[in-house]
Amino acid sequence: MPVYKAEAIVIRRVNLGEADRLVTLYARDHGKIAAVAKGARKPKSRFAGRLELFTHIRALLAVGKSLDVVSQIEVIEPFAPLRSDLTRLGYASFVAELMDRATADREPAPEIFRALRAALTFIMEGDAEMGGLWFAARILALIGYAPVVGRCAVCGRPVSGTAVYSYALGGTLCETDRPRDPLAATVSAAALKSVGFLLETRPDTLARLSLDRRLRTEVEGLLLRSLEYRLETKLKSPLVIQKLRQRDNATTR
Ligand SMILES: [Zn+2]
Repeated sequence: MPVYKAEAIVIRRVNLGEADRLVTLYARDHGKIAAVAKGARKPKSRFAGRLELFTHIRALLAVGKSLDVVSQIEVIEPFAPLRSDLTRLGYASFVAELMDRATADREPAPEIFRALRAALTFIMEGDAEMGGLWFAARILALIGYAPVVGRCAVCGRPVSGTAVYSYALGGTLCETDRPRDPLAATVSAAALKSVGFLLETRPDTLARLSLDRRLRTEVEGLLLRSLEYRLETKLKSPLVIQKLRQRDNATTR
């Protein structure tokens, strides 16, 4: 069997058969790959601890008939704190779910890999929720659907202040084009400005954006609806995050 090397991050894993694991990897130079790790669930497996969710690995894979087979793994960054803290786990799972939904198999996109790694690093070290918002905006931009803010999505005329936002047309609308989407929803000027900042910024300057709870909710709503509209799917992880938030509120009250 021909083999190839891949630097990748584990974005999904499920049990397969008696002792195997099916992993979805996002590889820098190969895009999304589904591969089997044979015997990975046996106690003495050589993969033990190396194929945990979010682990950044260097792998040797063998080309299989239907699925590739993981042959060797070296851990580059375990990202362990993402699995030990429930809040960080929630946002890292959100990032992994978006990766799985928004990317196609075997379509190399090194910039998406870099954004994934940057988001996981930020969620591990910084404000996990902001890391999640940053990645939501980033992945929309990387798949060609960056929300249009500051100008009209139809005619390009500048749009400032509180405005209506169309999920179908992908951005804010000017007064003239407003009737084009009866479902367009009003979004505050501050939320639109924050989305604009998230689209421009890199994780190292993300801390400059300070959003209160109300604004976070508004920005999150806009990004999630945009993603669900574009990906034609209902995302699962935001519901888990919402439950965690309710639990946190209950314990701090
Ligand atoms: Zn317009």
